[in-house]
Amino acid sequence: MAGVYLDWNATAKVRPEAIAAVTQAMIAGGNPSSIHATGRAARATVEAAREAVAALVGVKPGSITFLSGGTEASNLAIESAVLAGYERIIVGATEHEAVVESARASGLPVETWPVDGEGVADLAWLETALRAPGRPLVCLMLANNETGVIQPVAAAAALVRAAEGWLHVDAVQAAGKIPVDFNALGADTMALSAHKLGGPQGVGALAAGERAKITRRMQGGGQERGRRSGTENVPGIAGFGAAAQAAQAGLEALAAQAAWRDAAAERVAGAAVQIGAGAPRLPQTLCLAAPGFESGLQVMNLDLAGVMISAGAACSSGKVKASHVVESMGHPDLAPCVIRVSGGWDTTQEDWRRFGDAWIEAHARHAARRREVA
Ligand code: PLP
Repeated sequence: MAGVYLDWNATAKVRPEAIAAVTQAMIAGGNPSSIHATGRAARATVEAAREAVAALVGVKPGSITFLSGGTEASNLAIESAVLAGYERIIVGATEHEAVVESARASGLPVETWPVDGEGVADLAWLETALRAPGRPLVCLMLANNETGVIQPVAAAAALVRAAEGWLHVDAVQAAGKIPVDFNALGADTMALSAHKLGGPQGVGALAAGERAKITRRMQGGGQERGRRSGTENVPGIAGFGAAAQAAQAGLEALAAQAAWRDAAAERVAGAAVQIGAGAPRLPQTLCLAAPGFESGLQVMNLDLAGVMISAGAACSSGKVKASHVVESMGHPDLAPCVIRVSGGWDTTQEDWRRFGDAWIEAHARHAARRREVA
């Protein structure tokens, strides 16, 4: 990959361990449901990956259902809660569309759970909301994709449990970047995605605790203990397992990246404000807003300088839209000028320095142009 890649929250570079595992699984072939030797070997590959993914979030392997990614995992969790008789859904204001749209499509009443100016969910609001009638499904992400802000999931879980609710945690951005312990967090279900932690795209998992009854969503051959029919994506699952293992081993190294991230933020501090910096955050995510310097322009200018970052929020068409995350944090004025810079397992201190240099230059050029026009 040429240039400086700092868009890991969109998708991480695939780890060499994952590439090797995918390749090996493709060469070995076989359907895990076949009972001959090649089938049994494919089954062993899937189960070894299940153990690795389970270990990453501290659950038993049997709690893991493999599926196509974080989006499907959250859809399955929400549909399962609806079919289990939960009557209303409370959704964090900064949740990903995978959760928001799935909740909206459920047909149940949906309430938006506000966050404070740092993007942290308001626990007092939840406590009050949980007093209303109706068994609640509560959706709270562990770490936000735009800001990296980490939510007080364990504290929320205690409230949800007391209200006999179901807590769904989207840990797509957190897993493999910070330690994640499903049981300590008190989750009922948790969404995971391989491509955010150095595995291949198109594979993910839903972790489910004992209280969560997961519904059969796909009708078919009954794979994944009936929870997700369809022949398993063996190469993808193998890559996911290898990436999960490598990510777990690399957590400490990634934590050290916060110092490089903070140094870059300090360099641009004269012209850009950090979003969510007062809250606990992922170590490799930086969300910045530069008033008057629109997100798309920042991304394009940096791209021309060989540095790949992201607008705070981009939709699948590639168009930049104002960040709903930053809007919900009470900064609608900053929302159109937000960028996200995110590193990963092979990001260097020099990459963060190059981002800082390129951003300062781009900002200076933009400011000069604006002066000319004025
Ligand atoms: N949840 C969060 C927080 C994400 O950032 C993403 C991806 O951008 C998803 C869910 C969706 O995951 P996937 O791309 O694996 O469907």
